[in-house]
Amino acid sequence: MEILIRGLRYIVTQDDHRRILKNSSILIKEGIIESVGKADGHADYIVDGRRFIAIPGLINTHAHVPMTLFRGVADDMELFPWLQEKIWPMEANLKPYHIKAGTELGILEAVKTGTTTLFDMYFFEDVIAEVFTKFGVRGVLAEAILDFGTPECKDADTCINIADRFVERWRGHQLIKPGYGPHAPYTVSPERLRCISERASDNNSLIQIHLAETEREVNEVKERTGKRPIDLAMDTGILGPKTIAAHVVWPSEREIELLAQSGVLVSHNPVSNLKLASGFSPVPDMISRGVKVSLGTDGPASNNLMDLMETIKVTALIHKAVKKDPTAMPAQLVFDMATRIPGDLLDWKIGRIEPGFEADIVLLDTKLPWWTPLHSVISHLVYSARSTDVKYVLIRGNLIVENGIFTKKDEDEIMMEAEKASLDLLDKSGVSSMLKSMD
Ligand SMILES: [Zn+2]
Repeated sequence: MEILIRGLRYIVTQDDHRRILKNSSILIKEGIIESVGKADGHADYIVDGRRFIAIPGLINTHAHVPMTLFRGVADDMELFPWLQEKIWPMEANLKPYHIKAGTELGILEAVKTGTTTLFDMYFFEDVIAEVFTKFGVRGVLAEAILDFGTPECKDADTCINIADRFVERWRGHQLIKPGYGPHAPYTVSPERLRCISERASDNNSLIQIHLAETEREVNEVKERTGKRPIDLAMDTGILGPKTIAAHVVWPSEREIELLAQSGVLVSHNPVSNLKLASGFSPVPDMISRGVKVSLGTDGPASNNLMDLMETIKVTALIHKAVKKDPTAMPAQLVFDMATRIPGDLLDWKIGRIEPGFEADIVLLDTKLPWWTPLHSVISHLVYSARSTDVKYVLIRGNLIVENGIFTKKDEDEIMMEAEKASLDLLDKSGVSSMLKSMD
């Protein structure tokens, strides 16, 4: 199958020279980018690119996709009561049926807003991986592990066994990178973190963990173990170049050094941090000290979107204000954090539009008032673009969104099923919702 995207207004290559090409084309053969530039001629499928800019598909490095079902159920609460009184009771009733419906909705939202690779840490990860592959979307997926068990497993040892089987089943899949998801240093003991780190290294798989998200977490972990969370995680061997650490809002100076040395990829989740009042992650300081930082949305219960374009803009704005320095987070750097920085960590060739790279490409409509006049493509992408400008999404050359419409399943059906699953879950958990009193 050959796809030609012809005469694009611009191509944001994200290559080493950050080239932006004008009036250029992209030729895709069997899911791989064949050429970028003056390609022309015939193909099995041709897109007229004149009103579009092409960008590499966005990479969202922290999410809990099925939590779309909890969107708006409990807002404006502190993290710990929010988890203990709302989220965990609802999660206790989760069944694969809910997971499937929530994942379908989450993927629909993510791809329609420009994301082509989605990281996930949750339960029933097998069910989640099946939805990802059915829809043809790239997933870096981690089975969650907690000391007190999860809806899928009664205790941590069972969780670890399930994670082992999950990694075994999906290893080597074209679209899935399976891994382990020890929830956080305050929910997984140091001994278990050590054990998970060994398993992941034996299986050559990724680890996803929440780390230093709140000041309360830092104090609790320090009280219990005598160490701060990142320091402790480092001791257990869990931090390395195959680990994604979400949040990292409260690292000490020494811990920033440890993060840089370990090669861990930090996932910055500013919208969740703002909503839960967790604090401001020192992202510019971490970057200047050599820490690799990417972007995530976190779950839709604490954002409430899975829209990485929004996260890109918030990231660019928030650190300027915190540092009182408008040069603190340049647009190009923030766009790198959503594309080539996490792309380089994975051994898929993604995050750039270059020959030989996977054809994970997003086309945004630019014939719109907020794109006009188009003086700077990168500035507009970060400060002016809206996720509704996304009109085409390709993943491995597979057309997932065509002219604004999801091609893999009827969108109304996905939304209806998710609403039904969400209501069912709330009913079983005794949690109230406006939705129940409607119709
Ligand atoms: Zn999270």
